[in-house]
Amino acid sequence: MRTYFLIAVSVFIAAMLGAPIARAQAPGSNATPDWCRQIPRPEYKKLERVPSPDAWFEVYRVAPGVFAIYEPQQFEEAISFLILGSDRALLFDTGLGIGDIKRVATSLTPLPISVLNSHTHNDHVGDNWEFHDIYGMDTDFTRLNAKGSRADAQAELEPDALCGPLPAGFDAKSYSTRPFHITRWIHDGATIDLGGRTLEVLSTPGHTPDAICLLDRKNGLLWTGDTYYDAPIWLYRPETDLDAYVHSVERIAALAPQLHLLLPSHNIPVGDPAKLPKLVAAIKKVRAGNVPAVPAGAGKVTYSVGGFTFLMAAAK
Ligand SMILES: [Zn+2]
Repeated sequence: MRTYFLIAVSVFIAAMLGAPIARAQAPGSNATPDWCRQIPRPEYKKLERVPSPDAWFEVYRVAPGVFAIYEPQQFEEAISFLILGSDRALLFDTGLGIGDIKRVATSLTPLPISVLNSHTHNDHVGDNWEFHDIYGMDTDFTRLNAKGSRADAQAELEPDALCGPLPAGFDAKSYSTRPFHITRWIHDGATIDLGGRTLEVLSTPGHTPDAICLLDRKNGLLWTGDTYYDAPIWLYRPETDLDAYVHSVERIAALAPQLHLLLPSHNIPVGDPAKLPKLVAAIKKVRAGNVPAVPAGAGKVTYSVGGFTFLMAAAK
């Protein structure tokens, strides 16, 4: 377990350098960024790796019919999931759009693939444009992000953001989040029947207005998106709503006794459901003003408590 001190210092240094703040560990100024030393993460040794036709991604079978598609060479360490039923497959997020996730997904299944996003930040919708059947939460935030954007995508390529080479043929200059077309607007409680597997959409706003978790009740699986992952949880952007976030983590924590496995969208694709009630306690302590804020530069602070770290906007 990393110490509070290390997090504070590394986040502070990253902010001073103007580098992206890794969810893992802050980048340094070396040719090989400091956060790269955490790769490969030891947790992956226990997972079953399967071949990927695109070297940008690593693919792991994390549950029967569930693949994690991981981007370990970029500091977001984004994880998308391919979830198989007997009739259809669902791709939960499409990553940064640096590698070709469609090529990977179609190598893993011959079934028709629909896309659903954990939320529509750029690092989760990068290859949406390649797909024709896309679910979207019926929010203005989703509609705005479906138009695409350039600035957030370009920020993903800062020198300290990468641990390895970009894919051959990748054009960094023109890299942007391409617009995509949502074909099915959904709301809290929507169900997606893949054949032999039903997924329930839980609206869990907070990180963004359109943040969701995805529940496979029969198999005790909960995809947590950016609402929970095992690294500093980013809650600093203007679209973040902290009161909504607390409500959302309470909602998913109530499911913990029925769950076998969490499947988060960054860093490590598997997590223990017992973390969720602890997450509720931690964020409530922060909200109650019982945790000291540590400056993280550029209007941001971190709060670390109970094994969790939250990156938030500094109080004005
Ligand atoms: Zn996000």
